[in-house]
Amino acid sequence: MSEAGMEQKYVKEAFDTNWVVPLGPNVNGFEADLEQFVGQDKKVVALSSGTAAVHLALIACGVKPGDEVAVQSFTFCASSHPITYLGAVPVFVDSEKDTWNMDPDLLEEAIVDRKAKTGKYPKAIVPVALYGMPYNIKRIMEIGEKYDIPVIEDAAEGFGSRFNGQVLGTFGKYGVLSFNGNKMITTSGGGALICPDKEAANTIMWYATQAREAYPYYQHEAIGYNYRMSNVCAGIGRGQMTVVEEHLRHHKHVQKLYEELLAGVDGVTLIKAPSAEYDANYWLCTMCLDPELRVKGQENAYKKVITSAVGGAAGVIHAVDSTTTDCQPNDNVETLRLYLDAAQIETRPIVKPMHKQPVYKNNPAYVNGVSESMFKVGMCLPAGPYVSDDDVRYIVDCIKDAIQ
Ligand SMILES: *Cc1c(COP(=O)(O)O)cnc(C)c1O
Repeated sequence: MSEAGMEQKYVKEAFDTNWVVPLGPNVNGFEADLEQFVGQDKKVVALSSGTAAVHLALIACGVKPGDEVAVQSFTFCASSHPITYLGAVPVFVDSEKDTWNMDPDLLEEAIVDRKAKTGKYPKAIVPVALYGMPYNIKRIMEIGEKYDIPVIEDAAEGFGSRFNGQVLGTFGKYGVLSFNGNKMITTSGGGALICPDKEAANTIMWYATQAREAYPYYQHEAIGYNYRMSNVCAGIGRGQMTVVEEHLRHHKHVQKLYEELLAGVDGVTLIKAPSAEYDANYWLCTMCLDPELRVKGQENAYKKVITSAVGGAAGVIHAVDSTTTDCQPNDNVETLRLYLDAAQIETRPIVKPMHKQPVYKNNPAYVNGVSESMFKVGMCLPAGPYVSDDDVRYIVDCIKDAIQ
């Protein structure tokens, strides 16, 4: 079938069969496809977003106002914001150098210290597969078991990544997936929660559909949410599942090509999996610039106020009147971003750690400096399904031009 053919077939079916609602045959079909893909006898519930999946997983782990949750600081805000939706407190844990993900030693230190300071352990542990790289699952799961704290894997960026051959999101009690427009596969917007069994999945589904009791009228004994995936979006998801292996192959191929082409370039380091156990999907390829590296035009970095948000949230951002903050990418990184942008290449800074975000300035944080220093030197490179080998060559040539 042609490009987007399967997606259109399933979406058309939703209209033809009059299932243009947040349930239906595509939702069931998509969930079955996902269950087969992730394996391990897991149950999967399709939801309206990955953020909703994080939120419901926290509820299912019993997170209540005043509780604390240990969460990776080096992540997109959707890992931690739902903790605050619940009136609970994110306790941020910094990263290890190898994977950029939650440092197990710091995690254990945080758990012990929170207990000493508050008398309570965190209610859940949320590691994140940043840019698709698996976290140190073995040690994080061991720590979760040692202190009897459930692990919620945020695999939103790590769909199809594996650790020791097993799909991410199937190790912890719950696993979060996202199908937002920019993720590994998309339903335009959407997400899913990988659940341990049918009973847990039913509870998640119940919360996702306004928590209704079995009466002929609306009877509510708990607060629910409108978080179920639409049958139209699930149709796109079913189509995407037919190309997921192709997407994974493509991202890994692009990573390999960057590795080859950037191998001899001084001051530029591409980030790679630390060992064969870590089978990353390379959702985005990432590189670091040596702080000493000079980029053409660097003396003008941060001179102009940026008028659009990174990520292009349809113009819905607050305007700023300052060009800098107290924690930002180095001048050479920002200059290279603008240089590549002028050559029609969109790159992004690495996510800014949550413990450096003003909105979380009063939260407990267990830090070792890794995420902050990576944020200052890191950069995300294009890797999506439309990036060709020639594109990668062009991107690397432009990087070389910029640093000469
Ligand atoms: C995208 C993302 C989410 C949330 O997914 P949405 O579908 O956009 O709500 C959660 N965590 C991480 C790390 C993400 O990158």
